Amino acid sequence: MTAALKPCPFCGGEATAVVDGANIVGRCRSCMAEGPWCVLHATAVNAWNRRVVDPALATFAATLKHAEARAEKAEQTLRVVRSHLATALAIVDAPTTTEGGAE
Ligand SMILES: [Zn+2]
Repeated sequence: MTAALKPCPFCGGEATAVVDGANIVGRCRSCMAEGPWCVLHATAVNAWNRRVVDPALATFAATLKHAEARAEKAEQTLRVVRSHLATALAIVDAPTTTEGGAE
């Protein structure tokens, strides 16, 4: 009996064995992460299941995700600031009305 593929070490997604010709590989259905291509099904399963999640890598990934969220928020703020700046510059650059324009 062949062991089942464990969930993806990167995203926790369901893994499946993909056959291409005489080779087989464990692949995540969600993020498409792959194990090494092997000739034997059992070898591919074992290679996939041997993958471990390094706690430091998981922490780093969480930090990156947090930083990405902050960067997105900063971009939104920057868009608002640029919009206000454009408005302010339009006012500053507008011709003065002291030359007798429309009253
Ligand atoms: Zn995955």
